[in-house]
Amino acid sequence: MSTTTYANLADTLRRQGVTLVAVSKTRPLAQLQALYAQGQRIFAENRVQELVARQAEMPADVSWHLIGHLQKNKVKYLAPFVQLIHSVDSLELLQEIDKQAARVGRVIDCLLQFHIAQEETKYGLTEAEAVALVEDPVYATLHHVRLCGVMGMASFTDDKAQVRAEFDALRGIFTRLRDRYFADQPYFRELSMGMSGDWEEAVAVGSTMVRVGSLLFSD
Ligand SMILES: *Cc1c(COP(=O)(O)O)cnc(C)c1O
Repeated sequence: MSTTTYANLADTLRRQGVTLVAVSKTRPLAQLQALYAQGQRIFAENRVQELVARQAEMPADVSWHLIGHLQKNKVKYLAPFVQLIHSVDSLELLQEIDKQAARVGRVIDCLLQFHIAQEETKYGLTEAEAVALVEDPVYATLHHVRLCGVMGMASFTDDKAQVRAEFDALRGIFTRLRDRYFADQPYFRELSMGMSGDWEEAVAVGSTMVRVGSLLFSD
């Protein structure tokens, strides 16, 4: 992507109050540095090993997000620095994040990941599972994690109506959870949805955070 195109996308999103997360997975470090030089400060990886390696190589003011499936035994590696984990899909994982955050004296922001697409392979909770998670007495004992909203991926399809319907369903889940369990917690406000191929649909439906990879990094 050219310098002007990045600036245009960043500016379009900024004017709408939408956070741009640059998904840098599999890209060479030089491409991350180029984007950093243009002002991008939030980067995301889907593998813990990559996240840790890049955090060491990039400037200290980068905010690092994890977007991929997270195994419990890897949480300890990212606990010291991760700013937002988009992919929490079980209470057990949240407990482990809480434990590792406590060890390093942090509170880690997390999103609940939902399964909204038709594809079978994508991870994520159903609304009923999320309700069970936040109503579990164990959840109330976790003081080193903060649920800040929800994340989801739409089906990989050209059918824009379907993509919008899936994003709309995620917004519905977000709104119901917020009103029922987080009404007094203003930080529960993130609706992480939209990627290179569908960020416009996501923003139209109310996304607060888009995760864009190929569009930013292809040349
Ligand atoms: C790879 C990935 C993205 C970015 O996808 P692009 O189509 O390259 O923009 C966003 N979210 C998740 C969870 C991903 O794994």
